[in-house]
Amino acid sequence: MYFEILLDAVLGERQIFHIIECPICGFEEVYYEDSETKKLIGRACSSCNFVQKFEF
Ligand SMILES: [Zn+2]
Repeated sequence: MYFEILLDAVLGERQIFHIIECPICGFEEVYYEDSETKKLIGRACSSCNFVQKFEF
């Protein structure tokens, strides 16, 4: 699926931290954390085709 490829490209290795209701479309907005450091790395909504990487 294209969106998964996009997530791999933008966020890389990741695991789900939590899922909230997307404020834009009402579907699922997923927050991802790094599987090793447990730091939040980004969020995404597959319905909006939206991916954001958090920069620190
Ligand atoms: Zn959305």
